[in-house]
Amino acid sequence: MKHEIEVTGIVLYVTLVGEYDKRLVILTKERGKITVFANGARKPNSAFTAASQSFVMGTFTVFPTREAYNLVKVDVKEYFHDIAYDMEKMCYAAYFSEFMSYYTREGDFCTDNLNLLYVTFKALLDGKISNELIRYIYEIRLMDIEGEGIQAFSCVKCGEKDRIKYFDAKAGGLLCDKCALSLKVTYEVSESLIYTLQYILSKPINKLYGFTLSDEVMAELRYVAERFRSEYVDKNFRSLEILSTLA
Ligand SMILES: [Zn+2]
Repeated sequence: MKHEIEVTGIVLYVTLVGEYDKRLVILTKERGKITVFANGARKPNSAFTAASQSFVMGTFTVFPTREAYNLVKVDVKEYFHDIAYDMEKMCYAAYFSEFMSYYTREGDFCTDNLNLLYVTFKALLDGKISNELIRYIYEIRLMDIEGEGIQAFSCVKCGEKDRIKYFDAKAGGLLCDKCALSLKVTYEVSESLIYTLQYILSKPINKLYGFTLSDEVMAELRYVAERFRSEYVDKNFRSLEILSTLA
């Protein structure tokens, strides 16, 4: 006999089903990415109306069915409502959800993923650092959590720690001058960029969004993050396409 279970999670996205229902895709700490049906969520006075929206974080009581779960109860911790008032932030949040969805599936253990998404939405709302910087920090850290991170502490090829100053996405990260020469890699990075990458890869998740960058280092981070993502992530994200039309 199946029992209700309680999971902690964030709603990645929502689709409408039939006349009154919603289908939620939730990233949960305990069960990875799961599909939950919120039956009657679009009826007037439904207890699920406010909670069955994208980006809502909380504790969800769900009942397992053959292929998914049915929503029984929600205890919302954070709505992240205000993201919706800013079109650009909204697109970024949708992209962060989409990128998270790309990497996760049911059965995964997702504590780090969930913490990362939570602090990322917080940073987006706080607005202390630029949306674009938040995006690259998020991408780099998430790829690292998923075992596809940039190698930034030593030369990818020979392990040399002191003379790393080149970057190559195909190689998987930073290279020393000798290996760069032998691989014909010519994109040189600054010490500030190397420090930034190491910071993003090693700081506790709740301290990730505490710095800003000069325009020069930001340009390097943009180059490195975008090359790296397009080398290892084989998907076009719809939210990114929309974002590019806003710029
Ligand atoms: Zn080397």
